[in-house]
Amino acid sequence: MRARRSAGNPEGLNMFDSHCHLTDGKFHEDLKLVLRRAFRAGVRELMTVSESLPDAREAVALALGQEGMYCSVGVHPHEADGFRGLDVTALRELCIEPCIKAVGEIGLDFFRSISSRPNQEVAFEVQIDMARSLDLPMVIHVRDASGRARAILEEHGYFVGVLHCFAGDRKMAEWAVERGLYISLAGNITYNEDRLRTVLPVVPRDRLMVETDSPYLPPVPERGGRNEPSFLVHTVRHLAGLLDMTPRECGDLTRENARRCFRVS
Ligand SMILES: [Zn+2]
Ligand SMILES: [Zn+2]
Repeated sequence: MRARRSAGNPEGLNMFDSHCHLTDGKFHEDLKLVLRRAFRAGVRELMTVSESLPDAREAVALALGQEGMYCSVGVHPHEADGFRGLDVTALRELCIEPCIKAVGEIGLDFFRSISSRPNQEVAFEVQIDMARSLDLPMVIHVRDASGRARAILEEHGYFVGVLHCFAGDRKMAEWAVERGLYISLAGNITYNEDRLRTVLPVVPRDRLMVETDSPYLPPVPERGGRNEPSFLVHTVRHLAGLLDMTPRECGDLTRENARRCFRVS
């Protein structure tokens, strides 16, 4: 579906928000309006990502029957202390729903280390195996843990999916694209371009995705408040400038990449 230019979408953008948390309490009051604004702004697809088993159940209930909305189920590294083997059985059972397109978010976060490192590693490894056995891509969260995350993924030999809210360096980006992973950029690219200038040249255009990670990380000029999927337009415009493309081309490119990564037809 091509977007027509309109007051809410003057550039006629078509975008895929590859990572948002629509089950977050910050959306409980006005989710319908949030979604309406997103579609009006040109967001054609959204991936609502879960952080725990109860959250995964909510995400599935939300995405069921909603055109353009998909979800990803998994236990976030922050939740890894509470991760149990039984969660995997329950998550697997959820995966019969066709709106589930990925396992995530899973990974390692040694920046805040809210859960212990050993527990994070166990949860990550078990869920990599789950993704592989279900033949689903992974939504991977890595913060201050690039070396360890790389080592674990190498041990498991499964490299299907996306490094979300990419905050790694050039070396990490090179490794990821060589292994076949996608790289998703969030609103924080509008805060500081320096890091990206070294990373972008090594990422082929057909591996780039964009996300809001809403309600977190609002892009400029929305910084300071709640983020929401309609604000993806700011990230797309910013990335378009860095790639020397029009915003419309950048929306199309990142949307096509996300559809390929998540196998959305
Ligand atoms: Zn994350
Ligand atoms: Zn997230």
